[in-house]
Amino acid sequence: MEKFPIEALPATDITDFQTNSSHREWMGPFTFVCGADTQFGMIDNYHLHKTEPNWDKEIKLTRESIHRINKMLPKPKFYIICGDMLDAFPYEGLRQKDLRAKQYEDFTKVFQELDADVKLVCVCGNHDIGDVPTQATLNVYRNQFGADVFSFWVGGVKFCVINSQYFEAPDALPQETKRQLDFIAKDIADPNAKHIVVFQHIPFFIHDPAEEKEYFNLDPEFRIKILDQLRDAGVKYVFCGHYHRNAGGVYKDLELIVTSAIGAPLGKDPSGFRIVNVTEEKISHEYIPFRNSPDIGEI
Ligand SMILES: [Zn+2]
Repeated sequence: MEKFPIEALPATDITDFQTNSSHREWMGPFTFVCGADTQFGMIDNYHLHKTEPNWDKEIKLTRESIHRINKMLPKPKFYIICGDMLDAFPYEGLRQKDLRAKQYEDFTKVFQELDADVKLVCVCGNHDIGDVPTQATLNVYRNQFGADVFSFWVGGVKFCVINSQYFEAPDALPQETKRQLDFIAKDIADPNAKHIVVFQHIPFFIHDPAEEKEYFNLDPEFRIKILDQLRDAGVKYVFCGHYHRNAGGVYKDLELIVTSAIGAPLGKDPSGFRIVNVTEEKISHEYIPFRNSPDIGEI
């Protein structure tokens, strides 16, 4: 499996989950936490239209998520962020690059506070490599956050992370798109896994597998083809972000779960994260809001 150095984010070192065979054994029920879209800078940029945005509000919300996780007993096995860790796109001129560098620096600082027993797993979002990724933006992502397509094991469950930008813009980096399609076809299925779970940023669909293409979902033709492949590989759960609201639905026997933002909400769901319970029979989950009101001004 490909390795990328992530010195600034030691919490993301999941080598043990990938190489230690004991993680392939079922050891009893456990939990993990799934969040999405910390998106440092979005509230000032998108909601408040500030020309000089800061991300104090996102820092506060992300800290709240970390402090809640640190207090959980038993500890969740990992904290996964389903994409868009930062708001500034990586390729829109020097000012944008500079903003992004500062957002990244603060993101790494905040995650120093995460309990050392809990691993941080990052998923690549559209804001992380751009709507149309380039080799340069992908390289920056991998150097800062690690691999973008990979799998790991925890407690007998196989977790697979994929990069939805290769579905959203399949022609941008055709080799990477092909590599991901090969990964889906060959590397996800495993008869020894108690469950197989996929994480990605953009949901295949928001509510209904038959809905039309829009900004927040993936192209229907690609959608059904990949969903069928995932089902054939034994995947029963797909966790996504990007929508900044809670949503989801069922395709045949596969459940797709869309989790609202840790950072800026776009609908009635306040910022929060999802606690996911894994038992031998099934995976269940509950969204935990950090505030009762989604009003940005009160964050
Ligand atoms: Zn997004």
